[in-house]
Parts: sequence; C-alpha cells; structure tokens
Amino acid sequence: MEQKFDIAIIGGGIGGLMAAYKIKKETPEKSVIILERGFDQEKRFCPAGKNKKCVHCKICSISGGYAGAGAFSDGKFNIGTAYGGSMGEELGEDTAMKYINMVDKVLESFSEDYPPLYMSNEELKLKCLQNNLRLLDMNVRHLGTDKNYNTMLNLIKHLAGAGVVMKSRAECRDITKLGDEFFVDYDHSGENIRIKADKVIIATGRSGAAFVKAICKKFDVKIEANSVDIGVRVEMKDVIWKEFSSKIYEPKILYRTETFEDRTRMFCFNQGGLVSAENNNGIITANGHSYAEPEKKTDNCNFAILSSIHFKGDFDKPTEYAENIARNMNFAGEGNIIVQRFGDLKRGRRTNEHRLSANSVIPTLAAFPGDLSIVLPYRALTNIIETIYALDKVAPGCANDDTLLYGCENKYYSIRPVHDGNFAITDGMYLIGDGSGITRGLSQSGAMGLYVADAITGNL
Ligand SMILES: Cc1cc2nc3c(=O)[nH]c(=O)nc-3n(C[C@H](O)[C@H](O)[C@H](O)COP(=O)(O)OP(=O)(O)OC[C@H]3O[C@@H](n4cnc5c(N)ncnc54)[C@H](O)[C@@H]3O)c2cc1C
Repeated sequence: MEQKFDIAIIGGGIGGLMAAYKIKKETPEKSVIILERGFDQEKRFCPAGKNKKCVHCKICSISGGYAGAGAFSDGKFNIGTAYGGSMGEELGEDTAMKYINMVDKVLESFSEDYPPLYMSNEELKLKCLQNNLRLLDMNVRHLGTDKNYNTMLNLIKHLAGAGVVMKSRAECRDITKLGDEFFVDYDHSGENIRIKADKVIIATGRSGAAFVKAICKKFDVKIEANSVDIGVRVEMKDVIWKEFSSKIYEPKILYRTETFEDRTRMFCFNQGGLVSAENNNGIITANGHSYAEPEKKTDNCNFAILSSIHFKGDFDKPTEYAENIARNMNFAGEGNIIVQRFGDLKRGRRTNEHRLSANSVIPTLAAFPGDLSIVLPYRALTNIIETIYALDKVAPGCANDDTLLYGCENKYYSIRPVHDGNFAITDGMYLIGDGSGITRGLSQSGAMGLYVADAITGNL
C-alpha cells in the first residue's frame, strides 16, 4: 500500500524548501514529503575542493542535494527583480517584491548573523553609462558561502522538526495522475518506491531539466523554447574591481557589443573568490563562489561574461546546442574545463603549463591550459573579448594579458513550460524555481516556492 501525502515536493533546493516552509507555516496539519536526488546537506562533498579537479561524481554534490545548487554558492541574495528571473513580469512588481522580501525575512530568521544590504550606487551607474555600459540597479545581501550554508542547514532542521518527511538519494523518475490523485515513483538505492499525493510541486532546478521535459511530454504541457547564454568565467586580481565591490558588492553589467550589437552580461561576481567546477549530467562547466570569512578570501575575484544566443524559427534545442559546446570543451580539455590567459587568446595561441605557471594571476581552479577559440563559436568569443575591453574602461586592468578565462560557463533557459497564473502546469501539479525557466537565482526561486505554497493553501 502506497504512503499518502497531501503534498509531494520534488527537489530540495531553495524553491522546494521555501514551499515546504510556507505550507507547514500556514497549514501545519498538512503532510509534506520532499524527495531529493542528492545527498543530505551535511553529507554533500565535492572532491574537486581537495584535488582542485572535477572527478565526475555520479551525483554532483555542487549542483544537487539538500539546499540545492545554492548550497555552496556565494549566497548573494538579490533583493529586486532586475535580474535573477522574470517574477516581476509574471506576478507584477509589487507581488514579486512582496515574496522576495518574504524570502529575505525567512532567511534572516534562520541566520545567526544576518549581513546588511549593499545598496545600489548612483556614481558607479554614471561611470558605467559614460562608457557604454549599463550597471544594473539592485540591492544585494551577501551571506557568503559559509553563512549561506548554515542558514540553509537551520531551515532544513526546522522543516524536519515541523514534520516534513525528507528523503535523500530519492530520485523521482515518474509521475502519474489517476483521477485527482498523483502517483509519484522514485528510486531509492535501486528500489522503486511509489507514493500518493494530492498535489505535486516540481522544484528540480536546472539539473532536473531532462526530468521536467519528460513530465511535460507525458502531461502534454507545451514548452516554449527561447535562448541560451554561452560564455566564460573570468578571473583576475581582486583589486581591479575593489572600487565596485567595496560599494555595491556585486557589479552586474550589461553591454551591447560593437561588431554584432549582441547583448552580453557580466554577473555572478565573487570578491576574493574561487572558481569552481560544476558537473551537470556529466558535463563540466565553470562557476564561482567566495567565502565571507576573511581568512578564506583569495587575492582574486571572478565573474561570468555570457553572450546570449536567440534561436529563431523552429529550432527548439538551445540547451542541447549549448551542452554540446560544453561537451566539446571538456573533450578538448581532456575531460576538464579549459583555462586560457587573455593575452594568449588575443594572440591566437594556446595557454600552456609554462605560461600559466608564470602568470601573475594564480588560478584558483586546476583547469586544463588550452585554447578556448577552438571550441567557442566565433560570434560568442568576439562578444566576450569586446566585453572585456569595455569593462576595462571602468575597471582598468580587466583586459590585462594575465586575466584568466575558464570555458565554458553556460546558462540554460530553454525549458519554459506553459503554466497558469499560479505556476501549475496541469491541475494540481506545479513547477517552480530554475527548472521552470522563470527564475535563475536564489531569491526568485525561493519567492516562487513561497507563492505556490500560498496558492496551494488558499492564502494568496
Ligand atoms: C556554484 C553556484 C553558485 C551560485 N551562486 C548564486 C548566488 O550567489 N546567488 C544566486 O542568487 N544564485 C546563485 N546560483 C544559482 C542558484 O543556486 C539557483 O538559482 C538556485 O539554487 C535555484 O534553486 P532551485 O530550488 O530552483 O533549484 P536547485 O537549487 O537546483 O535545486 C533543485 C534540486 O532538485 C534536485 N533534483 C533534480 N532532479 C530531481 C529528481 N528527478 N528527483 C529528485 N530531486 C531532483 C537536485 O538534486 C537539486 O538539489 C549559483 C549556482 C551555482 C551552481
């Protein structure tokens, strides 16, 4: 006999956790289960931290497990709607902000030492404007990797205490609907287990894209394909961006390139940070984070520069397209991310061990020294190079020969299933967070979880 729950949540990232939190807060009597493919938060471990090299774990502890893709992140919470998703467009500014602020309050209640907000800065905005760059306006709260980790752990402990059943190593494989009831099948150590639920919230993040696609196909949910971002993680001396990072913590800058008039963006800035490797279904891409504790800071900073590619016509596989580029990068990098000095890229030569060992910027990730231009599309690479020169005007030193570029870093948005006003993709089944194609950051994913919880509990 299958165990029955009022609500089954698939995915234990911030979206799923916030949904569980709000459901239990509003309706403590409701039974809630969370199924998470990865490990419990405290059991998550990335060997790349020790070996400085991705060893292709079967379950990537960076992208999945309790606390989700954000567990070891820099914990930058964007208190606004200008980036990190399109919740503002979906719900209207006021409602979106109400839920983003609510996420902030929930996190504060689970944090021992909640940091102050970095406010936007008019002077830096003008400086960027005068150089053809657009600094995005947003207030940011930076928890740092360690504080963010502990805050999420406290939230998870609270949920367990509130009676939420939390399964780890539980990969949801299928969902079936019979009448008004859902049957959720998940794999637990090779055993198929089936549970029943009245409502299902899918919160599987970017790493669950294939699962969401399969469910949408099964339930005949239309998917809108749109675009993909391809780019690199950039690493340089921290001092180059000090003027920005000391005032606003995280510069997020848009640029329109000269040659193609394409839009690029600089974002996910990590002051004193580390470049990290992320394994998504066997494909290794670059990312970055930083710790709040001063003794864990490096001399470097890192950020992403991404070039957006919009597909027109019938082409509906932008994610696969970008994954193939990343796969080729791994192939050329002997199974790893490729790192190249900007000076070498400009001169059309690969970076080798010798040149890398003499570099003034010491890499914080052991990547394969090579040549990004043999893999990245000409248009994307041209856009990235032009963006580095444009950024050099507001942060001189950015286009230094010793600046390091790690390839590649991709952001996928393609799977955007059509939903109703409350993010249900079919009656009783909701899709939230980064896996919905609507959010792409911690605050908005969490806000979507809180909103859907209110929709389910009749609290809107
Ligand atoms: C290294 C790194 C740094 C980042 N830094 C920041 C930052 O500073 N600020 C910011 O705003 N954003 C940051 N992000 C992005 C942020 O982490 C995500 O936007 C956020 O985690 C999305 O939350 P989510 O709950 O929608 O999905 P996720 O956090 O991805 O959680 C989804 C969970 O679902 C699980 N899952 C997937 N498929 C299944 C299945 N079939 N069955 C069961 N479970 C499944 C996954 O294992 C995962 O744990 C960062 C991301 C990374 C990887």
